[in-house]
Amino acid sequence: MPLGAGLPPDPHGLFPGQGLSPSPPPSKPPSWLFPHVVSFLLFLPIPDRNRWSEDYQDCRGTMQSPININMANTIFSPHLRAIQLSGYSLPANEMLKLKNNGHTVVLELPQSMAITGGYAQQYRAVQLHLHWGATTGPGSEHTINGHRFSAEIHVVHYNTKYDSFKEAMVQPDGLAVLGAFLEMGPRDNPYYQELLDHMQQIQREGEEVLVPGFNIASLLPVNLKYYYRYNGSLTTPPCYQSVRWTVFNQTMMISRDQMLMLITSLRNDDGKPLQSNYRQTQSLHGRTVLASFQPTFFAPKQLPAGKECVECAQGAGMQRQGKEQELRHPVSLTSICIG
Ligand SMILES: [Zn+2]
Repeated sequence: MPLGAGLPPDPHGLFPGQGLSPSPPPSKPPSWLFPHVVSFLLFLPIPDRNRWSEDYQDCRGTMQSPININMANTIFSPHLRAIQLSGYSLPANEMLKLKNNGHTVVLELPQSMAITGGYAQQYRAVQLHLHWGATTGPGSEHTINGHRFSAEIHVVHYNTKYDSFKEAMVQPDGLAVLGAFLEMGPRDNPYYQELLDHMQQIQREGEEVLVPGFNIASLLPVNLKYYYRYNGSLTTPPCYQSVRWTVFNQTMMISRDQMLMLITSLRNDDGKPLQSNYRQTQSLHGRTVLASFQPTFFAPKQLPAGKECVECAQGAGMQRQGKEQELRHPVSLTSICIG
């Protein structure tokens, strides 16, 4: 399975600039960057991406994911309420399975975790996983105004009106995935470290380790009010078009060392570095992307707690960003930092 080893330089460069800047739509990277996308949910063998559309009818459908979200084309919906999470704070004595499935790192989640607000129905958690790039370029799946972020977390849930994930995943309203972007910031993120601490134990495909429970919500933005919503699909075969996507506006921050750890720790089923495990963005085919807020040029970033948080907030760049946010949204500087 072709992965990032020996890749030529990515047009995005080494860990490109932070934040949302108006950048041109990404030129389509060569197809060999993509054939190894995450075994999203089903842990099925992922065939050569060039064959996805031949082997799986839904992969050539008109409601595929991920997508580029063009802020100017989103529609503000005041009916989209804040996402509410239930049961996300897990005790340390509840052990969770963390696995290298050859395509990503997957943390299995207990069904006691759920989304209880922000969707018309309730959804139970199944697992979370990450998408990332390589030292040559970023690796989020969704892009905003053509900007690809360093990495992206997906927390996968299924509708409680169905008896199982397997039953739900083929229904139009079967799945809900919460997505958040990761960028590099000035300090370690202690919550992501809960996972990264164990990456060296699962370097090879199929390896797994038990990790103590923690507050899974801390892997997601503090601000669960501002997000994009659209109907899409699994981003790997069988590409079922059964996902109601939530893509948060607020970006999570991890340190450069942590990002390197994420990018370099795992190997795929060929024994090569597991990198750039994202699918290219798919055509909207006329779909509407809703926003729970009125999007602006600036997107807030969330730094983990620390004294630098105040310092950076007082720095010119962050201060300007914060003021812009406050002018346009009721988002305060303090909400950027985890207190
Ligand atoms: Zn994913």
